[in-house]
Amino acid sequence: MSNHINYGSIPPKWPFPVKYDEENRIETDVLVIGAGIAGSMAGLMAARRGVKVAVVDKAPIDISGSGGAGLDHYGGCISNPDCGFTPEEYMELLKNAKVKFRPPDHRAYIQMKGAWDNLLELEKLGLKFRDEEDEFVGAPFRDDKTKIMYAYDYKNKDTIKLRGGADIKAFMRAGLTKEKNATLYERVMITNLLTEDGRPGTRIVGATGINEETGEFYIFSAKCAILCTAGLSLQATSTWTFNSEMFANGYRADPRVTGEGFAMAWKAGAEFLPEEQFGQSINTGPFGWPWYGVGNPDNTWHGVNIVDDNGKEMPYRNSYGDELSTVLDRFMPSEGKSNVGVLHPVPFIDAKKIESGEYVLPLWADLSAFSDDERRSLWGLMVGNEGRTRTAIYDYFNKAGFNPDTDMLQCPVMTPYNFQNDFKDWYQGEAHICKAWKADTLKGVITDWNQMTSIEGLFAAGSESDQGGAAAGSSGGYSGNRAAEYAIKTPRGKISEEQVAAEKKRVYAPVKRMDDPKANVSWKELWMGLNRVMQQDCGEFRSPELCEHGIKWLDSIKKHEMQMTYARNPHELSRVLECESRVTTGEIYLNLCKANFRAAEQNIGKDKIMLNKFIDGELITTYKEAEWWLKPPCSSSYLENYTNCRALEKEEKQNG
Ligand SMILES: Cc1cc2nc3c(=O)[nH]c(=O)nc-3n(C[C@H](O)[C@H](O)[C@H](O)COP(=O)(O)OP(=O)(O)OC[C@H]3O[C@@H](n4cnc5c(N)ncnc54)[C@H](O)[C@@H]3O)c2cc1C
Repeated sequence: MSNHINYGSIPPKWPFPVKYDEENRIETDVLVIGAGIAGSMAGLMAARRGVKVAVVDKAPIDISGSGGAGLDHYGGCISNPDCGFTPEEYMELLKNAKVKFRPPDHRAYIQMKGAWDNLLELEKLGLKFRDEEDEFVGAPFRDDKTKIMYAYDYKNKDTIKLRGGADIKAFMRAGLTKEKNATLYERVMITNLLTEDGRPGTRIVGATGINEETGEFYIFSAKCAILCTAGLSLQATSTWTFNSEMFANGYRADPRVTGEGFAMAWKAGAEFLPEEQFGQSINTGPFGWPWYGVGNPDNTWHGVNIVDDNGKEMPYRNSYGDELSTVLDRFMPSEGKSNVGVLHPVPFIDAKKIESGEYVLPLWADLSAFSDDERRSLWGLMVGNEGRTRTAIYDYFNKAGFNPDTDMLQCPVMTPYNFQNDFKDWYQGEAHICKAWKADTLKGVITDWNQMTSIEGLFAAGSESDQGGAAAGSSGGYSGNRAAEYAIKTPRGKISEEQVAAEKKRVYAPVKRMDDPKANVSWKELWMGLNRVMQQDCGEFRSPELCEHGIKWLDSIKKHEMQMTYARNPHELSRVLECESRVTTGEIYLNLCKANFRAAEQNIGKDKIMLNKFIDGELITTYKEAEWWLKPPCSSSYLENYTNCRALEKEEKQNG
């Protein structure tokens, strides 16, 4: 057994001892794959149910994943006692929403229903979100009784500002280390799932992995596994774009979220939902990031005044087209209307007025127009905790003497057209130039009311099953409980040594071919090859023929370039393996496109939900009834299904 496990964030001495082929065999009940926000909570909750839990992450858990850099707000906290609607009402609002930003299904309900309890759990772990120091007494976003501070919508109160969001992952890791049933394996990257007879479609019995620093091999035997690697977590851009000199990924995810969970699930024969989103999007292209480092009125910066170079203010409007006259209006839903499924109010900018010289570029984010409370909250709480702005803006600008009371932040300068908004996010205007490439993400593996995928013993939570955001831990904790219950009643399955040997061969192939002169493809070139295929064959315009063309080319890359890709050390080996997973995610996209075309040709209506899996080289499509999660054998009520699934957990809690 390696002595490098459980070392947390402290790496072994440099140079790391390279131990290719050395095997570590670990036996556990529940295997958590990926300890981001969802996985950490899954591990914590499963361990508390008394089963043995292995929590594995390819990075140090205190800073890993999309939450690792810090969060400023906790969205979707519908179950908090002061929220303007109940989780059940929320499901109706989602269903009738103008902008369908997430499917109104049981996964949304599970996450929303548990979000408040999950936040209280995080509070016990050390995460601060209340204004205990009474810094904001009387502010319109503060509840003076509970000291909770709300963001974005001060009436419905479904989003909570986080005071200590910058360190959320550190609290979670510290909590995990206190659980006697949980063992942490950091810097260990899971490479594949192990199935009962080594074939896709059968029960999960464990997984394999490698240590990213020493290269040693891990074989986990587990009764079940929870996939929490965040799917492509809005990281899909990297399937279309890579440039080693420029940060080429979408802005919403840790660049280490590389689609491995999806690739593993696909190879294990799990069923996927059909959504694969197309077209230009906020994440598209290599310029998907920079606007966060300048002034904008989005997300963290919500509500800030935008003025032109002469100080002339841009009028704010909400999604219903109403002009908003006060700053407070920007934080309120329209009279009699819900804020669910509508975009936040935005400054309305008319390109013609820029062209005619009425507004003069550049535009500026003017914090000075805010009230003192709003300004301190935006600059101190939000910008100071949010991972995208904490270091790049808050720390550097403060050090440079930026004063939010008097100074302004310049917005990106673009052509007038790019500022024009019809509730598009103009501050992300740079992204518009990359129209040909797709963005956004797959909606992931299908999960049932227990968060189990179509593969027995394989659970999924967080972004992996479209339950991302700061409240990802709510779905994580829920899945941890369900997985623990499954592990208690299920005997251990036998690992197929043939499957282990095949995976070991695949994993080490890039280092074993180092002496082969034909092995001259680096991981970066492999990645760029994938991007080329996806840009050409899976862009904004697509057709069944292009899908086939793309699948053919990815197959060719797998047979040729992938067999020539080398790795000089464990670090490079991890990058190669990540790229191999990216190629699989490219195949998932193309196959789902193909299936969507087929369904359209056959006129299959929206009253059915299409599912796709890939077994023995064949794409298998099946259909489920719409809203199957509220039809027999499930109950017809969200609450009843949820309560039934948590019955055992509740009973155990009551019995102490
Ligand atoms: C900078 C930034 C700021 C954000 N701010 C907010 C905010 O303020 N509010 C909000 O609601 N949301 C915010 N988000 C979104 C939110 O952080 C994510 O939606 C959330 O972290 C998703 O949780 P998750 O557990 O599904 O995935 P993640 O937290 O991304 O965790 C995935 C984990 O899987 C690990 N992993 C991946 N592959 C493997 C493998 N093969 N083997 C082992 N481990 C693996 C990764 O290392 C990672 O730790 C922000 C995102 C970013 C990037």
